[in-house]
Amino acid sequence: MEAYSVWENMKFIFCEIFVRDRRLGLAYAIKAVLQAGAALAALLYPRYLILELTGQRRIPVLAGLLAGFFMTELVCHCGGRWMEQTFYSHMIVMRFRFREKYQETCLSTDFVHMEDPAYLDRMYAADKCLQSNNYGIEGVMHRLFGLPGSILSVAACLSVLGSLHIGLALFLLGNIGVLFWMTWKCRRIEMKLRTKSLHEERHERYYHSVAQDIACAKEIRLFQLSGWLLEALRACCREQNRQSGRLQSRLFFIRLTEWCMELLRNLLTYAYAIRQYLAGVIGIADFTMYISSILQMMESVLAIVDDTAFIVTQNPYINEFRSFLEEPGEEGASGLCPVGPYTFVLEHVSFRYPGKEEFALRDVSLTIRPGERIALVGRNGSGKTTLLKLLMRLYEPTEGVIYCNKTDISSMDREAYYRLFSPVFQEIAPLAYSIGENVTLQRPDQQDAERCKVCLQQVGLWELVRGLPQGLHTYLGKALADDGVELSGGEMQRLLIARALYHGGDVFVMDEPTSALDPIHEQEIYRQMDRVSMGKTTVFVSHRLMSTQFCDRILLLEEGRITESGSHEQLLAQAGAYAQMWQVQAKYYREEEAG
Ligand code: ADP
Repeated sequence: MEAYSVWENMKFIFCEIFVRDRRLGLAYAIKAVLQAGAALAALLYPRYLILELTGQRRIPVLAGLLAGFFMTELVCHCGGRWMEQTFYSHMIVMRFRFREKYQETCLSTDFVHMEDPAYLDRMYAADKCLQSNNYGIEGVMHRLFGLPGSILSVAACLSVLGSLHIGLALFLLGNIGVLFWMTWKCRRIEMKLRTKSLHEERHERYYHSVAQDIACAKEIRLFQLSGWLLEALRACCREQNRQSGRLQSRLFFIRLTEWCMELLRNLLTYAYAIRQYLAGVIGIADFTMYISSILQMMESVLAIVDDTAFIVTQNPYINEFRSFLEEPGEEGASGLCPVGPYTFVLEHVSFRYPGKEEFALRDVSLTIRPGERIALVGRNGSGKTTLLKLLMRLYEPTEGVIYCNKTDISSMDREAYYRLFSPVFQEIAPLAYSIGENVTLQRPDQQDAERCKVCLQQVGLWELVRGLPQGLHTYLGKALADDGVELSGGEMQRLLIARALYHGGDVFVMDEPTSALDPIHEQEIYRQMDRVSMGKTTVFVSHRLMSTQFCDRILLLEEGRITESGSHEQLLAQAGAYAQMWQVQAKYYREEEAG
């Protein structure tokens, strides 16, 4: 992770502020001047009032001083408060802008990252920087609003106290320095332990989200998993509490020392001012001013310590956020995508998942010709899905190269390459938008409703959709619409096939697209697939060997290698593993038919 200093991060935040919202940038400067003005007025006006009251007692002068005091307070104090209130919302908007950047990175990062726990930890840490008004980037922006004013106030107080005794001012300055150093130390300890507990925090958040996730709700209830999940949540909390307890005991001694230093500081200033007053060196007006200065200074110093400590604490989160945004993306990936028809060549491709020892795919060499329909079959875990993901460039091969029309796919513009494919995955993950939007993946005003209807007809869903009160505009699920509908697993799968048909990419990639369908719809879908994929390159993963018959070539994968390749008839004639699997399944189907 890139470790930016606090200064560098402040510069980063202010640069964004000046680019996005100049008025907010200006407000920071004005607020500082107003705050220092209010502090000076609170020191000087009482001094002159007391001087006048204990001296000539002129009513017009007293009235003038009072009016001046009132006006300065009004402008500086109320003006400052008004700015705080007005610009609060500007800072929220700034946070949303940073959030957008984060979201953009999450949505576009390489797919392989989304399965990497270390990356997910970093993503979570970066997100922490943007979750709240009071912490992370926005919290820092709020604190920075008051910080320059506090610094100016301390400078004003120190110059007043310096006129009492320069040595006293220097002692106070040193004292403040030590206070800063100790607070800094406290925060360092805090941060170290917080970073350690990030992993537990992410797990804890997962357990919270599981409790609200409709996808898990059935299993949790039917298998009575709540006790198990609660115990896992408690274990996360226990670990966090243990770390927090260690932190508190380490911080206690530092806080005690801080308190002793504060006592010493006040005692010395008071004693010296009283001595000077009793010796007749200063009058009551100056005495009052010095005492006010020390009180005012302490208030500002505590504000600075608190604000800077906060900013230092948040710095690692901002670093996480910035590093997350700057994480290297794909390199040299802006090459043009060739025009069709497409031939894909996998040359000695091997792949190992991050953090895993064994290879999921080993030395796979394969040519997929334009318009060829290929079925990938094999046991669970033999590497079929991994091969599809490599072909679609969701992962980069660990070894070997994949070519599309003789161009290495890793050199092509990723989005252009993705557009070649119309995928249907096994996992059903619809968006909580309307049915039309789910099929077309376009906003309603851009959709081709007629084409959408044809695609839904092809998968046998049109009658159902037509019968819904809002037709294509009916929402899926209730996350975004109270009257959203829930479709069955099989209906959802057909909807996703309709999406692939609508998308009309040159290559159909289907990873068990019919696993949730009943046999009638399954047969129907295969008939449709046979028709719509005619002439189109299709790579198709299925456990049901009956379904592979519309394919030109069948590849059998075993432990990450292609061990058999040929048409259905050729593989049966080979009497190998495919023929064996076929016998088992054919027997099952025969029994089912007989039953
Ligand atoms: P299939 O599709 O044939 O069932 P996969 O391609 O999904 O097989 O998996 C091949 C191997 O890779 C298996 O051993 C599986 O455990 C492993 N694997 C799959 N996905 C991941 C992942 N995201 N992280 C680590 N290992 C994985």
